[in-house]
Amino acid sequence: MSGGTQSQTTNKLKAPKPATKAVAAVRPSSLLEDYPKLNGLTPAQYTKLQTLCGPRWIDLLFHLPTKMLDRSATPTIAAAPVGETVTLIVQVLRRQPLPPRHIKRPMTIDVTDGSAPLRVMYFNPGYWLERAYPVGETVILSGKIETDNKGRKLIHPDVWSLPKSEDNANTKINHVARIWPLYPLTAGLGQGWLSRAILTALDVAEDCPLPEWLPASLREQHNLPTFTEALKAAHNPQTEADLQPNAPARTRLALDELYATQLALQHARVANRGQRGIAHGKSHLLTDRFLASLPFPLTQDQQNALTEIRADLSAPRPMLRLLQGDVGSGKTMVALLSLLKVIENGHQGVLMAPTEILAQQLYANAVKYLQPLGITVGLLTGSMSAAQKKRLKDHIRQGFVQLTVGTHALTEDSVVFDKLGLAVIDEQHRFGVKQRVALSANQPLAPDMLIMTATPIPRTLALTAFGDMDTSILAQKPPGRTPITTLVMADDKLAQIAQRLQGVIAKGEQAYWVCPLVEESEESDLSDATSRYNWLKQVYGDKVALLHGKMKPKDKDDIMQAFKRHEYSVLVSTTVIEVGVDVPNATVMVIEHAERFGLSQLHQLRGRVGRGALASHCILIYTAPLSPFAQERLQALRDSEDGFYLAEKDLELRGPGEVLGARQSGEMKTRLADLHHHKHLMPVAHQLGSAALTRPLNAAQRNALALLLTTFHKETAADWLRGG
Ligand code: ADP
Ligand code: MG
Repeated sequence: MSGGTQSQTTNKLKAPKPATKAVAAVRPSSLLEDYPKLNGLTPAQYTKLQTLCGPRWIDLLFHLPTKMLDRSATPTIAAAPVGETVTLIVQVLRRQPLPPRHIKRPMTIDVTDGSAPLRVMYFNPGYWLERAYPVGETVILSGKIETDNKGRKLIHPDVWSLPKSEDNANTKINHVARIWPLYPLTAGLGQGWLSRAILTALDVAEDCPLPEWLPASLREQHNLPTFTEALKAAHNPQTEADLQPNAPARTRLALDELYATQLALQHARVANRGQRGIAHGKSHLLTDRFLASLPFPLTQDQQNALTEIRADLSAPRPMLRLLQGDVGSGKTMVALLSLLKVIENGHQGVLMAPTEILAQQLYANAVKYLQPLGITVGLLTGSMSAAQKKRLKDHIRQGFVQLTVGTHALTEDSVVFDKLGLAVIDEQHRFGVKQRVALSANQPLAPDMLIMTATPIPRTLALTAFGDMDTSILAQKPPGRTPITTLVMADDKLAQIAQRLQGVIAKGEQAYWVCPLVEESEESDLSDATSRYNWLKQVYGDKVALLHGKMKPKDKDDIMQAFKRHEYSVLVSTTVIEVGVDVPNATVMVIEHAERFGLSQLHQLRGRVGRGALASHCILIYTAPLSPFAQERLQALRDSEDGFYLAEKDLELRGPGEVLGARQSGEMKTRLADLHHHKHLMPVAHQLGSAALTRPLNAAQRNALALLLTTFHKETAADWLRGG
């Protein structure tokens, strides 16, 4: 949820106009309609409101307060505590004349409530003050009491006029003298306007409540308010505790959101299962030959994953499976074996990687292992010449190429498969669902999908991001690995570390030296890595190579291959080596500015070493001062090599966006649920989602769930109503 940076303005709420509800031009009939431009809002402010909150009434209500301001009435001026926000009902005694427009002079207004005099001061007075402070009338003031040698004063208070009739006056006092929710703001749109719009939306919620979609038993069990009650309570905090994620109102709203997400994902999953897929045949001659030629047996986890995948492949419905495994756990091997099964049963396969380097490495592996079996392997990347691409695409269309390895270039419309049977997508979180769909285009039968991720995804997030996707996990690593020793050091030890590399190089081993992405700007990124490269060159001469994101793919590949061939001992690089690159002889990973990386990312980088039997080191270099969070991250990394543990920790310390990468988290952005604080609601939401899809529903229940989906995931509601 949004931080409080924007709400510093809260104590000088300028809005002099009464915070009554804004009048909507049309009486809305549903919270799910768009709100019109509220009276008094300028078109520019209207646009800002829509950008800040969203276009619908319900979106206004999902903009939750992050702070509050106690404007409860103070008995008298005399009793008002100095330095605190007070709300007073006072009579206007005297008002200084307004200074001429070009003269900057404060204006003072004398007021009293009979208990003591009070001066109200405005340093930048305007004509509105004449209307706001009619002499002889009563007004409500709210602001911070100060004192000087002339007595008590209020500077720039908020002011409300008091209606003449007693009833109306009391209503107004009750309305003003209370605890006010304070909302995150955007430039050009003040608290006053936001509160007014939200109050109006609360009226709409009251007049046209949405049906209850949570089972009554569940609400009782967890002591949850109704949806409308929750909205009202969330916008009417009485204590600081009401602003916390675990407040009943916020818990209820978070659960609603997670429920809707689960419903949408699981519904899509069921629809996917309902598609006709390929029941791949049982031939495994080539697979057996391949296994016999491997210099090592598969690990138990690899075998289990393969069994699961094969069962999916031979079933007549499309597979959608996530293969999770830490770096070096042997996912690629499982992928190749899965592809082999599909290919030897007459279909084509695709192996897609997020970067050029990784695609090339996968291609090299595929060629090494599959070509000897007589399988045609092609490589398709963006950097190939148009003629090369055209020839390859022709061969793919004719079914001549059996396995195509590549980058997202594979998802272009011009790539048409003859008979695509299985797509293996490496590092799913860098690809969206769209790419997945693009691969299936033009295929009469839905191809099977295997998604590999080396970022262990905490269970809570996996549910949120992938719904009910089937999962295979490679938890154990292939035998013969020695643990990696992780050291955390300050950057004043740089020279010492560079010195110690000498010993490593003398032993014939290799090292990575990673410089971080600075603010994602490739310029500074480049200069960082380049200056480090020049510095190391002074010690190690031409044993040092440089690899960075701005190089041409061909050059990157050349350097990488040369490093693999041990033509260099030290590879200085930006994070382009982050995933997948395999050099078993590399035993040292130095990471500069480790404090700027996330845990998962550091863990990935560390996984580049320790891939052989040699003892390996990872040296995390930080620049002081280290924030407590960064300190905790680096410590966690030093203490554990368990990717799943580290991913949970990362989630706790930095939130889901960082764990999954910006793209994926954009797709699964939550507004009300906080994936850390509301973790415990995930299983509940998941359960609700599957119950809704398996139990018979009556028309009212179906409708309620359609409205739940419309509330949170508008796009999917139509599918649901069509009865898919
Ligand atoms: P990942 O893709 O999960 O990062 P890889 O499939 O690249 O892991 O495997 C890492 C290394 O381990 C590779 O060099 C691979 O040849 C090797 N490897 C894979 N499976 C086994 C196994 N069962 N036993 C020994 N080594 C293995
Ligand atoms: Mg199948």
